[in-house]
Amino acid sequence: MKAITYHGVHDVRCEEAADPSLRHPGDAIVEVALAGLCGSDLHVYHGRETGLDVGTVMGHEFVGRVVATGTDVQAFAAGDRVACPFSTCCGRCYYCELGLSARCTEGHLFGWVQDGAGLHGGQARLVRVPLADATLCRLPEDLADDAALLLCDVLPTGHHCASLAGVTPGACYALIGCGPVGLMTLLAAREMGAERLLAIDTIDARLAFAARLGGTPVDARRTDPISAVRAATGGRGADAVLEAVGSPAAGRLAFELVRPGGTIAAVGVHHEASFPFSPAQAYDRNLTYRIGRCPARSLMEELIPLARRRRDDLVAVLTHRLPLADGAQAYRRFDEKRDGCIKVAFAP
Ligand code: NAD
Ligand code: ZN
Repeated sequence: MKAITYHGVHDVRCEEAADPSLRHPGDAIVEVALAGLCGSDLHVYHGRETGLDVGTVMGHEFVGRVVATGTDVQAFAAGDRVACPFSTCCGRCYYCELGLSARCTEGHLFGWVQDGAGLHGGQARLVRVPLADATLCRLPEDLADDAALLLCDVLPTGHHCASLAGVTPGACYALIGCGPVGLMTLLAAREMGAERLLAIDTIDARLAFAARLGGTPVDARRTDPISAVRAATGGRGADAVLEAVGSPAAGRLAFELVRPGGTIAAVGVHHEASFPFSPAQAYDRNLTYRIGRCPARSLMEELIPLARRRRDDLVAVLTHRLPLADGAQAYRRFDEKRDGCIKVAFAP
């Protein structure tokens, strides 16, 4: 089959890869209709995350149809339309029961094979999905593949960020990063009633999209975000900062923007070994800091009605639809945020 595979830093290629087959009784094989390219793929692309085997199929967001099932799979059969979250889960362990499927004791990320172990990803024609009964989410016929693709990761992650921030009407929020995750965070926060939300980025198309969703765009090339947030909050700072970047600079900015007693909700993936503020500074700010991987699978069903209702906005985030053959160029374009690119969907 054709797939986009990892070959090293800044080196992904569309090439022939082996078709996956059922390996365990709980496996399903999914034929991909659409696969997403995510900011998380860029951590591997830039070498901020290392260890991937050469030839690993990239990507962790995909929707499609089940084409084969192992003997233990009960909830799905060939022909079923499904969306897959970015990691597997068992549905039965302490964390799955808790609604924290991201920390399932049997969870594995798609698109991560290291020393021969792990799972190939979704930027391919076919994907093997372990623990299929608990991992896959059935799609209603009236939810199209494009909107459903955002259920695999960025919509739940945005919803998770807004939940961590404890969004309520009346308060004033600052969003750092208007990529697909930031935009879905903004959409979710608005759904939860956020009225005043300053959305910070430096990319025109993304700032314009934030305005479309009801955020107040702050172009950090022209306006100092700290001054903008202070001006909007009587000098105090934001009640909560929603951080959807995952860099030391964004982490530090979050601390600069939050008011005493406020919350930082961070879904950007961080690789640093320490916080960009000290325990003493956190104490003096009475800071609440909430961070981590989104429990996407725990949230998917509950977000289907939202995906249906906001379909036009979700689909508009998918600015580029490309064949797998354009993989290398798509990674470059998404990474450089060129040509108004907000998110790429591959159609195998
Ligand atoms: P993206 O790269 O498309 O978007 C990031 C945006 O942040 C860009 O528009 C960029 O211009 C902006 N930005 C960068 N530095 C900034 C700064 N200092 N101030 C303001 N804006 C800044 O990526 P994405 O797909 O939106 O993903 C965002 C982050 O979310 C990534 O770190 C990704 O790994 C992470 N993520 C986390 C989870 C989770 O479960 N927690 C899930 C999905 C993605
Ligand atoms: Zn993703």
